[in-house]
Amino acid sequence: MAEKKIPYKIYLEENEMPKDWYNLRADMKNKPAPLLNPETKKPMTAEDLAPVFCDELIQQELDETTAYIPIPEEIRDFYKMYRPSPLVRAYCLEKKLQTPAKIYYKFEGNNTSGSHKLNSAIAQAYYAKKQGLKGVTTETGAGQWGTALSMACSYFDLDCKVYMVKCSYEQKPFRREVMRTYGASVVPSPSETTEVGKKILAAHPGTTGSLGCAISEAVEVATKNPGYRYVLGSVLNQVMLHQSVIGLETKAALDKYDVKPDIIIGCAGGGSNLGGLIAPFMGEKLRGEADYRFIAVEPASCPSLTRGTYAYDFCDTGMICPLAKMYTLGSGFIPSANHAGGLRFHGMSPILSKLYDDGLMEAVSVEQTSVFDAAETFARIEGILPAPESSHAIRVAIDEALKCKETGEEKTIVFGLTGTGYFDLFAYEKFNNGEMSDYIPTDEEIAASIAQLPQV
Ligand SMILES: *Cc1c(COP(=O)(O)O)cnc(C)c1O
Repeated sequence: MAEKKIPYKIYLEENEMPKDWYNLRADMKNKPAPLLNPETKKPMTAEDLAPVFCDELIQQELDETTAYIPIPEEIRDFYKMYRPSPLVRAYCLEKKLQTPAKIYYKFEGNNTSGSHKLNSAIAQAYYAKKQGLKGVTTETGAGQWGTALSMACSYFDLDCKVYMVKCSYEQKPFRREVMRTYGASVVPSPSETTEVGKKILAAHPGTTGSLGCAISEAVEVATKNPGYRYVLGSVLNQVMLHQSVIGLETKAALDKYDVKPDIIIGCAGGGSNLGGLIAPFMGEKLRGEADYRFIAVEPASCPSLTRGTYAYDFCDTGMICPLAKMYTLGSGFIPSANHAGGLRFHGMSPILSKLYDDGLMEAVSVEQTSVFDAAETFARIEGILPAPESSHAIRVAIDEALKCKETGEEKTIVFGLTGTGYFDLFAYEKFNNGEMSDYIPTDEEIAASIAQLPQV
């Protein structure tokens, strides 16, 4: 049978777009460990979570059995403005690498926020609005999540308070202004506006902040202001659920052309884009219907899967959030300044942590100069200027394609291209000037931070 000619871009028709999110936990025999109440060390109940999160999102967070959860029509209508996202056959990159491998990437950078994070931001804003809330609070590191959330909140006319890690606030003024343009208020973290911020500033004067601090501040503001809840852009089960739209579209597009991937690759910060991309494929693997290799790619400077410990830990520096069982470097771990801001969280999604611990997924870590090298190769031949985070996946996709060149295997590789890098040109400048370095934490540094894990 003649192979169908695969177009450069595979788009789905509007009526082929997913109508439900897929909840991978329903097909996991070994469920991820529950969130624990930091005081009682008992599993968090819906009542425990109610002061922090929106009610319907709590239901999604705790639901381990419903495989398909309908996407409300209002959210599907918003998705239609920038989805389906294209699945691109990287013909030009294949030719350049002279590889027999077939490479595809799912491009999520096609919206103003510049990343996949809008997929969950719009869902979380929708449920906040539906609950009659005034607004939401959140943290942002590199700024992608804050940007996506400010877009989603302006669409639903919600107030949006963003705590932005101070060094990004100063280094990325343009992201900050995009958020303000969409109506969000942006506060550099740690700040004097919260008790926890004041405490952190007193203990570490002059600190430029971390994601963990910003989370603590945003949670405090949500719980102290009536009509506000806290929302988070990664790690949580609900975010993985919303991001399944990436994988469902990818699978539908591949199925249209009878393409079966061998390897699926994604960068992993908190794990949401990777979890979303692999979800329907991992579901098939768990049900014994198909087999795939899944590869999580993380920075060598913040290697939670490859060098962390699988244990209960805090998600924030202030230690007020629930405990999550995950691969972690310890909530006190402050990664060295690297340029993939979106991959600097100390822990990993409990769902992905469980799958990794069960041997269902692989993980590799890569150094940032080799990541930017891959980013440049990609930009020059495929045209898109990739985000540094996304370029971690590009690095490993290229490496796997080059292995195929050696062995002559015609493997099909799919990777997630999570966003664009227009706000990361400071990092590109460093790379172009040959001033970028690789920092890898020592075993002692990681051990010192792991020693501080809470006793559970
Ligand atoms: C936030 C971000 C990531 C990492 O977050 P995950 O939750 O691991 O997906 C990756 N790429 C981009 C472009 C991001 O903005």
